[in-house]
Amino acid sequence: MTLDNLSFQDKRALIRVDFNVPMDADYNVTDDTRMRATLPTITKIINEGGKVILMSHRGRPKGTDESLSMKHLVSHLSTLLSKEVKFINECVGEEVVDMTNSLKSGDVLLIENLRFYKEETAGDVSFAQELSKLGDIYINDAFGTAHRAHASTAIIAQFFDKNKCFGYVMSNEIENINKVTGGAKKPFTAIVGGAKVSSKISIILRLMDEVDNLIIGGGMTFTFIKAKGGHVGNSLVEDDKLDLAIDIIQKAKEKGVNLYLPTDSVNADKFDNEAKISNSSIENIPSGYMGLDIGQETAKQFSQVVLDSSTVLWNGPMGVFEMENFSHGTKAVADALSEATQHGTYTLVGGGDSVAAINKYGLADKVSYVSTGGGAMLEYLEGKVLPGIAAILED
Ligand code: AMP
Repeated sequence: MTLDNLSFQDKRALIRVDFNVPMDADYNVTDDTRMRATLPTITKIINEGGKVILMSHRGRPKGTDESLSMKHLVSHLSTLLSKEVKFINECVGEEVVDMTNSLKSGDVLLIENLRFYKEETAGDVSFAQELSKLGDIYINDAFGTAHRAHASTAIIAQFFDKNKCFGYVMSNEIENINKVTGGAKKPFTAIVGGAKVSSKISIILRLMDEVDNLIIGGGMTFTFIKAKGGHVGNSLVEDDKLDLAIDIIQKAKEKGVNLYLPTDSVNADKFDNEAKISNSSIENIPSGYMGLDIGQETAKQFSQVVLDSSTVLWNGPMGVFEMENFSHGTKAVADALSEATQHGTYTLVGGGDSVAAINKYGLADKVSYVSTGGGAMLEYLEGKVLPGIAAILED
């Protein structure tokens, strides 16, 4: 179900893209990763003489919201494509349909933010049907929203019979994530970090069936350490998840998974880059201090595990990497991934903050694959059927 199996000459290709990109106050796109990711799909259709109609959401508007209009993306997209991009400030209705019909082969049209209509997120069937009138072929290339059964991401597909397929972003994501779900080359290491264990439980449990090594870092560490009887000072702890942490430790033992928790910690007397800093073992964080990064010994050990692996999945930072003084652990792991990749290890980075980290250190090109879809990737890894994928595969 990829682009390569359909012919686009003179056809209107309606593409659901993920152009939910961050912008500054002057409407400059500050991170265009998601836009650049869709260029191969768009270019392929242009080169085949198709007509491109792009639809996306931006933000979470309640009704029409000028600041979230897609019109602010037109010039950036036009630069990326090196060609004129047309825009219409609507996404459904006769006028939009007429405009799609007036397109010439090779033209690109961007339509208005789908979420100006609440029917989009509600997965409204009539709204999806209205949208379907804008194309002869439907392409889903928005992996970031594939876990949502919205009108444009899933419901719409039923109106295209066999004239639907995945764009390259989607097919690449699926192909790469499949490399770590079932049959990953061993040793397989998963690194899970970030703030809270509660948001990563399902993925940790699922991964436990697949991995040889499970590395835990970041804020969630302290729930484990406290559960084991350590002193965590003012560190982030989810007190209602202490039993769960013990459970995970137990399960790892039963399944023969090597569970790596940090052994040392970089601590701060407040949540601030300029805070007073003290280093300690992870089990003895002084009172009045909180752990904000893994220590050097831990960074070394985690890096070694990565270097000894054939497959590595990384989700979530090792510390508060947004603050320079607490970014060293995350940077060390990013560097280890990059080095391992050079030696032939398959490395997949996914989940919003680890992607931000890998970009921050300029290493996105040095790992095997960076997933563009945070929540969608996690749900796919958890083994859930994503509506956006299912809709394309269904007859
Ligand atoms: P998540 O969205 O769950 O992946 O969490 C990412 C966030 O966790 C980042 O913004 C980090 O700054 C934060 N984080 C990482 N380590 C810690 C820590 N030790 N204490 C508090 N927050 C942390």
